[in-house]
Amino acid sequence: MERSYPRAILHFDGDAFFASVEQAKDWRLRGKPVVTGGERGAATSLSYEAKARGIHRSMPMHEIRRICPDVVIVSSDYTSYSLFARRMYAIVREYTDAVEEYSIDECFADITGLEQSLDMSYEEIGKTIKAKLETSLGITFGVGLSVTKTLAKVASKHRKPAGFTTIPVEKIEEYLGQTEIYDIWGLGGASGGHLRKSGVSTALEYIQKDEGWLKDHGIVKPQRATWLELQGHSVLSLGSGVRALPHSVMKTRTFSPPSMDREYVFSQLSKNVEAACVKLRKEGLRAHALSFYLKTQEFTYHGVQIDFPVALSEPSQLLAHIEKRFNEVYATEILYRASGVTLRSLVPSVAVTPDLFGEFKQISEKQETFSTLDALNKKFGRHTVFLASSMRALGVEARDTFLRAGPQHKKRINIPYLGEVT
Ligand SMILES: [Mg+2]
Repeated sequence: MERSYPRAILHFDGDAFFASVEQAKDWRLRGKPVVTGGERGAATSLSYEAKARGIHRSMPMHEIRRICPDVVIVSSDYTSYSLFARRMYAIVREYTDAVEEYSIDECFADITGLEQSLDMSYEEIGKTIKAKLETSLGITFGVGLSVTKTLAKVASKHRKPAGFTTIPVEKIEEYLGQTEIYDIWGLGGASGGHLRKSGVSTALEYIQKDEGWLKDHGIVKPQRATWLELQGHSVLSLGSGVRALPHSVMKTRTFSPPSMDREYVFSQLSKNVEAACVKLRKEGLRAHALSFYLKTQEFTYHGVQIDFPVALSEPSQLLAHIEKRFNEVYATEILYRASGVTLRSLVPSVAVTPDLFGEFKQISEKQETFSTLDALNKKFGRHTVFLASSMRALGVEARDTFLRAGPQHKKRINIPYLGEVT
């Protein structure tokens, strides 16, 4: 047993995640070809039924409709995707603290040494967590068990959907012989191309090269780490480890004297946003939603929640969204005494499925002016806003607001079991 798993790393990957969440939320979509990304006019996720009909993610919507007239195209609902992701992380954490929230639909867990305390083999632990995820969330997961993160990712990818694959030390070569170099985590892009040109086509061929070959071919650090990981030497530690990422960032300000001046009140809110963004960037996160509120002299709260189709972390971008909705909260002739903003549905900056939003990233990195933002809004479609006429506090009430914020559908989100949502 020891030789099989010197370390035991699990990788969980939600199958067709966004589309699967849509099907879990609404039973009428189950068994149907479902495509998300309707608000952008580009497919972001395809249900397995849609894939079976020959739909690809790169197809324009009119082409998708043409080849599959009964397709159901829905707008992205990142609030729900994020809720499902949180629940996924929480379920895995019931078994081990060593969980890395890798992306909105993936996480790693280190279960090394837990056989005795859980009274199960590593394989049984993996299967048990997988079953719990699938019954609790109503979606399937590809799960891999191996001795390093990189190999666990090879395993989870091996059979789709709903696969469970184990790669113990003695099976490494067998699996890597069937795996294209491009399909290895971290070797998909230019580095994979470089290896390919150097005559390496499978992952097995890569691990058969020696140090000297790596040096001669200019293989640098990250690819060298991958080379070691593929051989079964665990060199990549679990990212955030036991540290849970914050689920929301909230900043509030009380100002005295109270004011009814629109510009002044907005500037106070602007300071909240800037402070919240500093925190956000420090944590390496982006927000898929925010809510802001104003508190009147009479201690009533008025707030709005806004969902973003693409996660944001720049104050100017967030403020552009707030500016548009500010008048829904602000009324003249009323004295305000405090403002607050909460950034929610937080996701790691690097893990916002970069291939999907690469286009967005290019644009946003170049410029940050409001006019660009307006262009983006046009491009990515309308933003759903939930207006809470009276938000007494951002605790329980905000949570309720959050659940009712099911964009586009204008109905409550129906989730089997939510667990903690903060
Ligand atoms: Mg996935």
